[in-house]
Amino acid sequence: MLPHELDQKSCESLESEAILRITSYHRRDFDAKVVTAEPGQHDHARSSLFKSFGESASSGLGRLQRLPFELLSSICLLLDLQSALNFSQASRSARETIGSIPQYHRLREHSLECIWALSRTGLSHHTSISDLHAALLTELCVICGSFGGFLFLPSATRCCFACIESAPDFRIISFHSLQKESRRLATWLKRSHPVIHSIPRSYSSNEKEYTSRRKLVSGHHALQFPRADHDEDPRAILGKLPDSPVLRCMAACRLPYFNLATGDLQLGISCKGCQIAMEANFSDANFSRRERLYSRDGFMRHFWDCVEAKELWASSEGGMVAVTEPEWTRRGGL
Ligand SMILES: [Zn+2]
Ligand SMILES: [Zn+2]
Repeated sequence: MLPHELDQKSCESLESEAILRITSYHRRDFDAKVVTAEPGQHDHARSSLFKSFGESASSGLGRLQRLPFELLSSICLLLDLQSALNFSQASRSARETIGSIPQYHRLREHSLECIWALSRTGLSHHTSISDLHAALLTELCVICGSFGGFLFLPSATRCCFACIESAPDFRIISFHSLQKESRRLATWLKRSHPVIHSIPRSYSSNEKEYTSRRKLVSGHHALQFPRADHDEDPRAILGKLPDSPVLRCMAACRLPYFNLATGDLQLGISCKGCQIAMEANFSDANFSRRERLYSRDGFMRHFWDCVEAKELWASSEGGMVAVTEPEWTRRGGL
C-alpha cells in the first residue's frame, strides 16, 4: 500500500468517526423499556461466571475426565443454560473446562445481561448455550432484516425493537388469561409451555412500575400445545387475548452484536437526522425511520441517503462546530 493511499484511508476513517459523533446517538429509552439489570448488578457474575480459576483440571470430572477436550467441549455446548451454570459450579475442574471454551468466554464477556435475564425469568432451562451464542454472533433481526440490538428471550432470537413490539412471532400473553380462555389446568399448561416470570420494574422511561412478578407465555409456544378434536383452535384463543407491548418487552433484553471476524462489539446506533425529519413531519414512515438501529457501517450507508443527517453534518463544518440537535436525541430518547 502506498503512503498516500494510507493517508486517504486514514482521512476517510477520521471523517466517518466525526460523522458518527455528530449525527448518530444511542437510544437510552430502549434500555429502559426491556429487561435490564440495575447498574453494578452483574459485577460479581462478571468476575466469576463461566470463568476458570486458572488451576489444574487434573481431577474432578469423573468419567468425563477420559474424554478428549474437543469432545468434552462439544458436549458442553449442547447444554442448556441452567445445566451449564450447574455444571460449572459442580467442581473446579468443571469450571476450568467451561472457562476454556471460547463460546462460554464470549457469552460471559458480552451476554451477561441476557444470561441474567434468562435466569431471572425462569427460561434458563429452555435456552441452549449454542442458540444463545449463535444469537450473539447474528447481526440482523430474524424477522425484518434490520440491525437487531435485542434478544427475544423465549426463543433466544436476535431481533429489533420494532419487531418486539409488533411481530406476531414475538407476542407475549398472560398465563392466567391463556388458562382461562383455553380452559386447561394450570399444571398441564406449565408442563407444555415454558412459563416466563416477569421481572418487576417500570418497562418505560416515565410510566408505571410493575411491582409484582407476572406469569407469561410466548404466543408462539401457546400455539404449539397438543389438542383434541373438540378443543378450540389455539389461534382463535389467542385472538381473544389482548396484545400488549409492555408484556412483549418483559420478554426481551439488549444484546450487542459480536463480529467474530473483527472482534468488534456493537449495540446499534440511531440517526439524529431521522428524528429531525420526524419532528418536521410526523408520519408512520418517519416514525419507523426514527426507530431503526444501525451498525456503524450500516449507519454510514444510511447517512449518504439521509438528507437531514447530511444537513446536520454540514452545519457542524466538518465536526468542528457544535450543532443544535433535537432535545430527544440529546437525551438519548429519554
Ligand atoms: Zn425486526
Ligand atoms: Zn437518518
